[in-house]
Amino acid sequence: MDEKKVREAIEALKIINLKRVHPFYDWEEMREIRDIAIEALEKQLLKKPDIMDYILGDINFKCPTCKSEYICEKGYEHFYCPNCGQKIKWSE
Ligand SMILES: [Zn+2]
Repeated sequence: MDEKKVREAIEALKIINLKRVHPFYDWEEMREIRDIAIEALEKQLLKKPDIMDYILGDINFKCPTCKSEYICEKGYEHFYCPNCGQKIKWSE
């Protein structure tokens, strides 16, 4: 997904008039649906991992979003967090 389009979609969802989106859902339900959509989209935006340690050829890191901890081999880093789906940025 294009990072700029994801950011635009998140901003649009934040200001959307929920009452006009769907007449059969009440406002609370629509707000919940919108928040789930925003949360899912935010995980498409690259975030740097929290590096804990380098052990021999492995990297010990935490997901920046859900804080799950992993060890991966250098050169075979996770593109996404297996637990929450956060997209991970390894290079600058
Ligand atoms: Zn995660």
